[in-house]
Amino acid sequence: MEWIDTHCHIDGEEFAEDRELVIERAREAGVGKVFVPAIDLPTSERIIDLCRQYPDYLYPMVGLHPEEVRADWREQLSAIRNLLLAEDQKLIAIGEVGLDYYWSREFEQEQLEAFEEQVRWSVETQLPLMIHCRKAQNELVSIIKRYAKQLPGGVFHCFTGNEHEAEELLQFDRFVLGIGGVLTFKKSHLPEVLPAVVPLSRIVLETDAPYMAPVPMRGQRNEPAYTRHVLAKLAEAYGVSEEEVAASTNANVARVFGIKL
Ligand SMILES: [Zn+2]
Repeated sequence: MEWIDTHCHIDGEEFAEDRELVIERAREAGVGKVFVPAIDLPTSERIIDLCRQYPDYLYPMVGLHPEEVRADWREQLSAIRNLLLAEDQKLIAIGEVGLDYYWSREFEQEQLEAFEEQVRWSVETQLPLMIHCRKAQNELVSIIKRYAKQLPGGVFHCFTGNEHEAEELLQFDRFVLGIGGVLTFKKSHLPEVLPAVVPLSRIVLETDAPYMAPVPMRGQRNEPAYTRHVLAKLAEAYGVSEEEVAASTNANVARVFGIKL
């Protein structure tokens, strides 16, 4: 049984000492591939280089994360766009991109413009979107609506919302929800919310490592191998076998990203 971690910051400093071992443990646990989101220009460049060292295992994205949108966002975007359009690399998606008003609304207008521009890149290149959204779902949905017919699809990563929010996102039928460690947290409503309104055909697995480690690793550095705890919890919540969760999420990854295990 193998499955895919669709969102892992394995390029991060947190893995500088033992990245090779982390990847070894991932392979042994059953993680067949790992997708790596960027957050700005330096990480976009670094991730392309890193993924070249692990062909057919690590897959790069490029993009400007909403929390990294500052006064220089236009310069960042134009340099990231050059990476996007360079032909000598295989990018898996544009990400992570989106809106985040949780900590600050200082660059609210810039975030909206930067997100919309990267949504247009997805239309142009037909690469899927890896979307980050916090405290901004209304604004996010209204931008995606304008491009929904032309967009290839993507992931609403780290979904933690309620039934209404899930249904609102699932109206975009080429998009899926990224589910990670939060599912396993004691106070999480996801074990009830997901089976109620989200079919297994609309879910992909993720770690968001080094963040969001699942129970029983909560509070530690997260890593791709820990997706098996999320997989097990999903199987329990949906009342199906772990093999079925792996097979469904793999099929969903193949549909959204065009990549098969
Ligand atoms: Zn992330």
